[in-house]
Amino acid sequence: MAVISQAGIGTAPDAGQLMAILLKLLNAKRTIEIGVFTGYSLLLTALNIPEDGKIIAIDVDRAAYEMGLPVIKKAGVEHKIDFIESEALQALDELVQKPDTEGSFDFAFVDADKVNFWNYHERLMKLVKVGGLAVYDNTLWRGTVAMPEDAVRQILKEGRKLTMEFNNLLAKDARVQICHASIGDGMTICRRIS
Ligand code: SAH
Ligand code: CA
Repeated sequence: MAVISQAGIGTAPDAGQLMAILLKLLNAKRTIEIGVFTGYSLLLTALNIPEDGKIIAIDVDRAAYEMGLPVIKKAGVEHKIDFIESEALQALDELVQKPDTEGSFDFAFVDADKVNFWNYHERLMKLVKVGGLAVYDNTLWRGTVAMPEDAVRQILKEGRKLTMEFNNLLAKDARVQICHASIGDGMTICRRIS
């Protein structure tokens, strides 16, 4: 894949700083990342969990992960990462089936295909413990979720629609307390409460 031309899809640094603080406050040890790309948010997570912490990192694109891997190795945190090359939905369904995974994760970061965000959320509501966090990226979709449709560029319309649907579903979901933070491209922090 042409990784360089897609450098802009990495998580925004301000959103990354917020995520780092959340991981520390939560004392997160077991985490899931859906959508790794070249590993910016993955490295950030690995640096903010303890030595014996674990990240299940899922992406269909191993080549992108491997591009960033030397940096992860240099940082000395590769041992915290279990990379799974897979469609995320399939990997999550397999994880849910495993014994002792239910409610065993402290934190999840979701940054893959927006069309599946709600499907990921349904699985994460089993995997993340009550009191843990599921964090969703790009939930403002470049601000377009707050714009009238005809003011939005064609290329952003589909993502805007999917993001608005996801945001509406989350707002009605009694299993979570949410904070829709206007940081980076929008990041929704969900705390599982039931
Ligand atoms: N979090 C990353 C950016 C992720 S970009 C960072 O901070 O840099 C989105 C990633 O999601 C891409 O690498 C893409 O391969 C992956 N992805 C998209 N659809 C997917 C799917 N259905 N299953 C797994 N990974 C997917
Ligand atoms: Ca993102």
